[in-house]
Amino acid sequence: MSQTIENALAVLRAHDIDPYEAEEDIADLPGVGTIEEGETVYATSLEDIFRDEPTETSEGLAPEWDWWEPNRDDERLSEWWREIREIIRASEGQDGPLFSQRRRQRQTYEAPEPLCAWYCPIHFFGHGWGIYIRERCIFHVALDIAVHVDWAAVKASGLRPAEIVRQLLRSAFYVFFLHEQFHHKVESLGFRLLVTTGTDRYRPYKTKVYRPNFLKPTCLEESLANAESYRRLTEPRYKKRHARPMLEAVQAYLAWSIPRQPPGYAQGMHYVPEGAYRKGLYTLQSQVLDGSLTLTTPATHWSVAPDVITSLMSIDADIYVILPAGARPIFRAGSIDPGATASTAQLTSALTRHYGYSQAPGGKGSHVKLVKPNAPNIHLPGNRPVVSPGMVKQVLGVFGGYPISRLPDLLRGQLPQPKTFLSPP
Ligand SMILES: [Zn+2]
Repeated sequence: MSQTIENALAVLRAHDIDPYEAEEDIADLPGVGTIEEGETVYATSLEDIFRDEPTETSEGLAPEWDWWEPNRDDERLSEWWREIREIIRASEGQDGPLFSQRRRQRQTYEAPEPLCAWYCPIHFFGHGWGIYIRERCIFHVALDIAVHVDWAAVKASGLRPAEIVRQLLRSAFYVFFLHEQFHHKVESLGFRLLVTTGTDRYRPYKTKVYRPNFLKPTCLEESLANAESYRRLTEPRYKKRHARPMLEAVQAYLAWSIPRQPPGYAQGMHYVPEGAYRKGLYTLQSQVLDGSLTLTTPATHWSVAPDVITSLMSIDADIYVILPAGARPIFRAGSIDPGATASTAQLTSALTRHYGYSQAPGGKGSHVKLVKPNAPNIHLPGNRPVVSPGMVKQVLGVFGGYPISRLPDLLRGQLPQPKTFLSPP
C-alpha cells in the first residue's frame, strides 16, 4: 500500500505535478471537507467493518427487543438506539405510517459531500489522500435507512438487535464508502491517462469540468458516484452479510434520498440501469481525457477500452473515520488509534524545536515547507486544527516509519533524530 502511494507520487513528480505545491488548486475540489477542531480520526478497513462477529444468544426474540441496550457506557450509541426503537415501535402502531411519512416528506436531503464524507485525491493531497467519513452522518443515515426497513419482516427473520445495529451502521457506512470510492476510480483513470498520453488530464478536468459544473445537473461525476453506491449494494461482499429486508431498505432509502440531493447528485438514479451507467462512464471518461463537457473523443470509442476506470489502489484499508474527540468509535479501529492527532502548529513546532528542521519560504498558499540539510523535506497543509493521518504518516516516514501511535513521542521530542541522506565520501 505505502509502496504504491510512493510509486504514484513518483509518477506525478516525473510529470512535474507536485501535490504539495498545489494549495490553490484545492479550490477545484469543492466537495472536499476538512477535519475540524474538537474532532479526532481513526483508520478502519472494510475487513474490520464487515468482520462477522458472533452475536450473543438469548432465549426468545420478543422480550429482548424491549430491554436490550447496545452499550450502557456509550451515550451516543444508546441515544441512537432509542430513536431506532421509536422507529420500530411506530412501524407497528397506528402512528407508524404517519411517523415514516413525516421523515420521508422532507423535500431536500444533503449530499454526501463536503460535510459527511469526501475523497482527497493523490494529485492534490499526496500522502494525505484517502476516503474520509464522519461518524455522526453514519448515525444519521442509519436512522433514515431504518425508516425504510420492513420491521415485521426483520422480526420474522429472527435477526437479533445487536446484529440489527451492526447491519444498519455498516450499511450507512458502506453507502458513503462506495460513493467516495468512485471518486478514487476517476482519479485512477487520470493516472492511466497521465502515463499513456504523457500529459496531466485529471487536474485540468477538475478545473474546467468538475468545478464549473459542481451542484449543477451536468456534474456527471457526482451522478455516477451516487449510481455506483446503489448498484454495488448487490455485490456478494455486502449482500451475503445483510438480511434481505436490510438490503431492500438501503436501496429504498437511496432511491428516496438521491433525487432529493442537490443537482448533479440528484441525477444519480438515472444511471442505475446498466445501459445508462455504461454510457455515463464512457461520457465521463471522454470528459476527463478531453478536459471539456463538449467531447472530441466520442464516448462510444470506450467500448474497446472498458476497464480504464477501475481502482488503482486497494482502498479497502485506511479509510478514515472522524468522530468527536473522546467519543468511542462505532467501528473497530485499524492501524490508527483515535486520539493520535496533531495540528499543523504542533507538528511544525515539534519539528523545528526538537529535530533541527526550519521553516522554508516559498511554500505555496498556506502550505508549510520544512527543510533540514541532508534530510527529506516535510510538507504540511497550513493552519489545520487536525492534520490528516496520511500526512502524519509521511512525517513519521521521515523518521524511519514509526506507527502513528508514536505521534505523541514525536511531539515531545522523544523520537531518535530522523535519518539523513548519506553525504558523498
Ligand atoms: Zn461525490
